[in-house]
Amino acid sequence: MAILKVRRYGDPTLRRRADSVGEITPETRRIVADMMETMYDEAGIGLAAPQIGVSVRLIVISDESREARALVNPVIAEHGGEATAEEGCLSIPGVFAQVTRSAWARVEATDLEGRPVSILGRGLLARVLQHELDHLDGVLFIDRLDPVARDRIKRKIKKEGLPEDAPHRAFAL
Ligand code: ZN
Repeated sequence: MAILKVRRYGDPTLRRRADSVGEITPETRRIVADMMETMYDEAGIGLAAPQIGVSVRLIVISDESREARALVNPVIAEHGGEATAEEGCLSIPGVFAQVTRSAWARVEATDLEGRPVSILGRGLLARVLQHELDHLDGVLFIDRLDPVARDRIKRKIKKEGLPEDAPHRAFAL
């Protein structure tokens, strides 16, 4: 396993629509192991493969009660409600903003054994799932802000760049 460098805002991989995972190979497992190690190292609670430069539909999530788990080819099957909370992204260090998303979401995927899994996320887990699935479509959380807030953040990044060592906050995905 290896801790990988998380791709940062401006990296074209973050803007690509990721490819579906076909057969689960030893390579897929290696990517997942590296993603989990990288997620823990960054104190993140979720990570999508494009964030480590691999454009495939694969995410890892971790919530405090359970082990980290990998979701292969995840899709949002159902979602509803509305919730606004502060969000950050390991690929955009030092930037946090209030993001409105669905309050709950049910995600269908397969695990690394190819078995179907269905996860109903509420609260923080709903947010993590939606944030990571966005990464698979090349969407970043700042895209979900109103244009004024988004432009303010983009201008700030352009002017000041991203910090090399941003303090970790509870909510980096
Ligand atoms: Zn992110």
